[in-house]
Amino acid sequence: MRTIGLLGGMSWESSVEYYRIINQEVRERLGGTHSAKTVMYSVDFHEIEDLQHRNEWDALTKKMVDGARMVEAGGAGCLLICTNTMHRMAEEVQAAVAIPLIHIADATASAVIAAGVRSVALLGTKFTMEGDFYRGRLADKHGLDVRIPSEAAREDVHRVIYDELVQGVINEESRRRYLEIIDDMVESGSSGIIAGCTEIELLVKPDQVAVPYFPTTRLHAVAAVDWALES
Ligand code: GLU
Repeated sequence: MRTIGLLGGMSWESSVEYYRIINQEVRERLGGTHSAKTVMYSVDFHEIEDLQHRNEWDALTKKMVDGARMVEAGGAGCLLICTNTMHRMAEEVQAAVAIPLIHIADATASAVIAAGVRSVALLGTKFTMEGDFYRGRLADKHGLDVRIPSEAAREDVHRVIYDELVQGVINEESRRRYLEIIDDMVESGSSGIIAGCTEIELLVKPDQVAVPYFPTTRLHAVAAVDWALES
């Protein structure tokens, strides 16, 4: 088994899920007392979200590169950046380490394509929904038709992530608002939903969504286990 590297803490509410899913998946596949070999470097998320909201992307890239080098120095054989948003600097991070980066959008796109979905709605932070680094990769590399919610809906999705989910708050009213936004996206032609922020699947579960639902934490974590157990 190879050692999975995790650059986490963005937020730790979802990094815990990565750790749980990776270990559960290894136990399911190998049985008994088997568990995953992992290395994690976890940041102080306050520093990250503060820089994000001040648009200090160069400083953020440096933090991600430094974190990735810590993971590599810890003996990991691959790297997962445990957040969708911070894949914005995935290329610079990959260039700074020798171990392969398993990209969250690639893991997600594989699942979307396997489900036979082509038009998919993307929910995530405003950085992820509005920037090109994520939507562009899904469209250009994987041929998906990616749609995003209206501006007002994007504001709500973003606010709930930073004011609630990364702080461990699961709110029923926010869940209703997310489900309403998802319904609107389905009505306007999306045949699948990407939970493109690693905390969204803590709020909205697959059985609450009428169309195929793609939880990026789970998909990314399972892709890492596939890599770790590949012979
Ligand atoms: N975990 C979130 C994501 O997947 C947001 C936190 C962050 O800004 O990194 O995008």
